[in-house]
Amino acid sequence: MLDRVPRRAPVPVPVGDALGLVLGEDVVASEQVPPFANTAMDGFAVRAADTAGAPVELEILETIAAGHAPTAEVGPGQASRIFTGAPIPPGADAVVMVERTELVDEHHVRVEIEVPVGNHVRPAGDDLDVGAVVLSAGEVLSAAHLGVLCSLGVESVLAHPRLTVGVVSTGDELVEGAQPLAPGQIRDSNRRTLLALAAGAGCDVVDLGIAPDTEEAITAAIRRGVSTCDAVLTSGGVSMGDIDLVKVILDRIGDMRWMQIAIKPAKPFAFGLVDGVPVFGFPGNPVSSMVSFELLGRPALRHAMGHTELDRPVVRAVADDAFDRRPDGKTHFARVVARHGGDGRVHVTTAGGQGSHQLGAMAAANALAVLPDGDGVAMGGEVDTLLLGGVPSESGLPIDPA
Ligand code: AMP
Ligand code: MG
Repeated sequence: MLDRVPRRAPVPVPVGDALGLVLGEDVVASEQVPPFANTAMDGFAVRAADTAGAPVELEILETIAAGHAPTAEVGPGQASRIFTGAPIPPGADAVVMVERTELVDEHHVRVEIEVPVGNHVRPAGDDLDVGAVVLSAGEVLSAAHLGVLCSLGVESVLAHPRLTVGVVSTGDELVEGAQPLAPGQIRDSNRRTLLALAAGAGCDVVDLGIAPDTEEAITAAIRRGVSTCDAVLTSGGVSMGDIDLVKVILDRIGDMRWMQIAIKPAKPFAFGLVDGVPVFGFPGNPVSSMVSFELLGRPALRHAMGHTELDRPVVRAVADDAFDRRPDGKTHFARVVARHGGDGRVHVTTAGGQGSHQLGAMAAANALAVLPDGDGVAMGGEVDTLLLGGVPSESGLPIDPA
């Protein structure tokens, strides 16, 4: 899949749209940050030598606020009142914080301490200097990275673009929204969860609606998806039944592979290209479609968006429940609640019913415990666990694995 879902080339992206994107170039500072020496404190800009033998009394020249240029050079015996972020005036080489001064009158201040040269002065370029590589290609742009770009006046960067991902649900039984249920009908939940998962993976998403189980409807929905999106996710219709049309249609209109994967949930899966656009055919059971997305969809979409860390973080956790299973040739992914224990380890307990239709347990889970083929994991044993989100600490505060 990773080979067949190519990495999209970087394009210019406004910094305001770049959060979470993968940077496609090195960014070199073309300016100094801060651009001028300025004060870290409210106080008085002085000549450090004048404070020798403090307390000393100095003449006040002017007041310099942030955003305003000094108008006077500080000479011997002189000082200028200055506020945080304001430029250090010529002649001054140190700042005395206001708390260590006392006004004598409107024009004179008493400095109570001796200060060294550079005291509370933030030199030009102290944060970022001209020519420094401040961000490297491949970095995932964070809030702080965007701040760095703004502080340098960079308005746009080369970044791997977001994918636009379309999501379609298939099934005659599916009903939209709150409409009344006729006998045999259920409500469509997969479309919303897959749209949300794709959005959470950093994609733009397009709702392609519900397609009933006819070749025409499913073909039309997939065709519409591949003509407007960079990838299409479908759910339902990929297992062994006669009316599992998605795999049949994809095979007919696309360069498609239908497969069965030795995992539980989410055994059936279809993947391939239709008109060059990757289509992921996930199974219909709600937990299966979500687990498929986590294991198969998300890594491929992230790859296409330039990420190199594709998978969720895995920790070796302590099983606080017994996770029983029987050998069946498959790896099982148990929906679990992961929590930091007081012992510095992550602990997992079952999130509830483990049926592939039991979305309630998936909703309660923040992790998947990986149970290799065999007899499961005894209580107190260790189990590799994929963290799907933040792990709450003992105190209940989440600690994000990313
Ligand atoms: P399928 O993979 O189409 O055989 O569907 C497997 C199971 O998932 C069946 O019980 C379906 O009713 C159910 N299912 C399929 N699609 C959805 C959906 N979009 N939302 C909720 N359940 C679904
Ligand atoms: Mg179906």
